[in-house]
Amino acid sequence: MQKKARTIVQTGPRALEPRDLPIPDIDDESGLLRIEACGICGSDVEQYTGTIPVRWPLIPGHEPLGIIEKIGDRAAKRWGVNVGDRVAVETLIPCGHCRACIEGRYQVCRGRGGMFGYAYVPLSQPPGLWGAYADTMYLDPFSIVHPIRKDIPASIAVMFNPLGAGFRWAVELPDTGPGDTVLILGPGQRGLASVIAARAAGADTIIVTGLARDAKKLALARQLGADHTIDVESEDVRRRVAELTGGRGADVVVEVSSYSTQPVAESLYLVATGGRIVLAGVKGFKEVPAFISDLIVVKEVTIRGAFGVTSQSYRSAIRLIESGKVALDSMHTHDFALGEAELAIQTLAGEGPGEASIHSCLLPERG
Ligand SMILES: [Zn+2]
Ligand SMILES: [Zn+2]
Repeated sequence: MQKKARTIVQTGPRALEPRDLPIPDIDDESGLLRIEACGICGSDVEQYTGTIPVRWPLIPGHEPLGIIEKIGDRAAKRWGVNVGDRVAVETLIPCGHCRACIEGRYQVCRGRGGMFGYAYVPLSQPPGLWGAYADTMYLDPFSIVHPIRKDIPASIAVMFNPLGAGFRWAVELPDTGPGDTVLILGPGQRGLASVIAARAAGADTIIVTGLARDAKKLALARQLGADHTIDVESEDVRRRVAELTGGRGADVVVEVSSYSTQPVAESLYLVATGGRIVLAGVKGFKEVPAFISDLIVVKEVTIRGAFGVTSQSYRSAIRLIESGKVALDSMHTHDFALGEAELAIQTLAGEGPGEASIHSCLLPERG
């Protein structure tokens, strides 16, 4: 009998079920990945609750790390990898032909109909194994894969994803470098990754804000390289940032808080004249009250939106992981078996029985 893939299928909002699905044959241009780890982030929570528009049923899991189990000759040549190699797989599968792809913004490619990438393609589209909540995943001919060393524990290697976001949002988009003061609004997984990336880019001063209940995450931010942290509930953020920057404000503000709109409006008061603001935390399409656009004008502020991560930033993340220079295990709090996917999501959302996770992943080999 043919071997089957163990998967977790989402059939609707808050509905996950285990299913064994057939493993497809591959052609010359595609491959199969044995999943070692699938990272869990805020997008998993949004997908679980049904906030992200997708067609069910499908296999979630957009942060795959694994070993190439099978690969077509042409794919092996194009991707520069072979059977047995460990690779980090990018979420988005670009079409390669649309205007966004050709102009180098493949992370917003919609050339294959809607958002096309791992975790977002329904089971009805052959061969169905489009997500990393599984022990086996299909590798489409247009996949982007990055080799990563095998001697690093899977739960750390899979951090290429949040760290890649940190490099794109806190370094690549705002062009952060030596001398810059970087203010990061929100100490979650992405905020902490932004601290690590800004530090690696040579930022001068790093400041992180959070709520009173984030005390542990703020302590971790300091451990990972933040110079100062601010509890927004007990401190006057504008005054503290002014004190810490000699009255100038921050050269770079990275907004990675989730759902709260206030930091977006506030960022205009915290940024320096001529400074850069990157907005990366989604707000459920809410309006932002008290947003004073004149501040953008009079301070000549640049505001950039960040959607997804680029290959350049993934590569920076992988180099940093392989360097072993940062104690990334301090950020990794939970490992889960594949069958515990629901628990993993609830633990990140702070709805689980124990303490909320910061970085966590599914390890399908654990069952
Ligand atoms: Zn993610
Ligand atoms: Zn495209």
